[in-house]
Amino acid sequence: MKENKEYIIMPQREKDIFVRGIIPDLNVRFLFANIKETLIEIRNLQNLSIQCEALLGETILGAFLLTTREIKQEHEVIGIHIEGDGAVKKILAFASSFGGVRGIIVPEDASWEGKIYKGKGKGILQVNKFKLNSKKVYSSAVEMRDVPIAKNLEEYISKSDQINAFIGIYSFYDSNNPLLPVEVYGYFFEVLPDTKIEQIDKLTNFIYKTDMIEFLKNIFGEQIYEQKKELKQQFSVRILQSGSIFFYCDCNAGKIENVLFTLGKDEVFQILEEQKQIEITCEFCKKKYIFTENDIIRLFKEKE
Ligand SMILES: [Zn+2]
Repeated sequence: MKENKEYIIMPQREKDIFVRGIIPDLNVRFLFANIKETLIEIRNLQNLSIQCEALLGETILGAFLLTTREIKQEHEVIGIHIEGDGAVKKILAFASSFGGVRGIIVPEDASWEGKIYKGKGKGILQVNKFKLNSKKVYSSAVEMRDVPIAKNLEEYISKSDQINAFIGIYSFYDSNNPLLPVEVYGYFFEVLPDTKIEQIDKLTNFIYKTDMIEFLKNIFGEQIYEQKKELKQQFSVRILQSGSIFFYCDCNAGKIENVLFTLGKDEVFQILEEQKQIEITCEFCKKKYIFTENDIIRLFKEKE
């Protein structure tokens, strides 16, 4: 028999990437990032409307940008929890400093008039920092105004940390063509301690005089090397780290078992009686966890 080998050339997967570094002349730290492929993955898992995909994408990128401050702490996770009065009631987004992200938006099929940020309206924005080594969680909440996510995060940083930071997050999509991917770009500049006023002025000048959308698109597009050169010509830039952003859910049976424990023995056994088994779906990755009667009996025995 003749061997029929077929070679399929796979298109190179466009990656969601980030670049961290510092501009020594200005004494600022920066993080540039974009997400597209990760959002397609989340959209497919959760059946998001295109506007929800864009708003969730902005929030996830926002959580990732906040990891700028945590570069020394490896495997630190930042969570953003939004409760608003717009068409979207709740958004949860998590990002780790190494690039793993996940999130949900409720309801997932919302739509609204006007700009993307209008979907969340106003309400409460909470930022949670999970220190994985010490297993501690640090939370602080601020009032969320009816302004873009990037603006809300700038306000959060100036209130909670009292530092100067400049954040921009831009999402692009075609509402007439909801099958096309949503792309989100973002930057974060953090002014480091002991920065002179002139240095801050130079940075603000750079941000306001530069078309930041074009700047970011170029960084993540074909002209990445050219752009870096250009940035280098204006200021000397030191790239500290670059990597990719990807969907990452850290759910596991143990965590789901803890959810069952918090429900309590009586409640769990009542559900078991009605449904014969307990099925819990992770809201982030949609993985199903099924517990039979034997599993439940064993679980609560171990706990006691
Ligand atoms: Zn999961």
